[in-house]
Amino acid sequence: MSENLAEYKKKRDFNKTSEPSGNRTEEHKYPVFVIQKHNARNLHYDLRLEVDGVLKSWAVPKGPSMDPSKKRLAIETEDHPIEYANFEGVIPEDEYGGGTVIVWDKGTYENINEKDDKLISMKDSIKKGHVKVILSGEKVQGKFALIKSSGRNKGQWLLLKMKGEDISTDHNGDILDIRPESVLSGKTIEDIEKI
Ligand code: MN
Repeated sequence: MSENLAEYKKKRDFNKTSEPSGNRTEEHKYPVFVIQKHNARNLHYDLRLEVDGVLKSWAVPKGPSMDPSKKRLAIETEDHPIEYANFEGVIPEDEYGGGTVIVWDKGTYENINEKDDKLISMKDSIKKGHVKVILSGEKVQGKFALIKSSGRNKGQWLLLKMKGEDISTDHNGDILDIRPESVLSGKTIEDIEKI
C-alpha cells in the first residue's frame, strides 16, 4: 500500500496540511466511493474508488452527471489513502492542490464489469481502461462507466452514467446545483470559506 501512496506523500507536507498522512489502513466489507468537491485554482470534483486498500482517484472538472448523454472528462490523479474519504477542510494555499474540500457524496460501490459471465477485478478493469460500477451514494446512484481515452491523451478518461432501468434522482435539474452541500457536515464550500 505504501508504494501506491508514494506520490501522494511526496506532494504533501503533513506538518502544513491537515490531510491524512496515509499511514493508517482500514478494511471495508463493501468498497467505498467518495466524490469530493474541491475549490482549488479551478473548482472540480474528485471521484475516488476504494481498490486494494487505496482510493483510486480522478479529477472531474464538471462533476458527475446523471444524464447518460453527458460524458464528463475525468483526469487520473494519484492514489489517495482510504481515510481521505472522510477528509474535508481547507488545504493551505502553498500545499499541493490547496483549497477547500467537502465530501459532496459518499457511499459504497459494486464492481459489475464482466466478461463471459466472469467478474473482472477492479485492478484489471482500471488497467484495461474500462470500469463499470454501481454507485450507491446519498446523491449519486446507479450504473456508471469510466472509459479511458485511447491515443495521446494520457490519463484522460470519460465518466458517464449508463443507460438503464435504475431511476435517476436528477429528473428536475442538475444534482450538483440542487444538492451542493457536504453529506458529512451539511456545509457548502461557501459556508466553510466564509468562516
Ligand atoms: Mn482535487
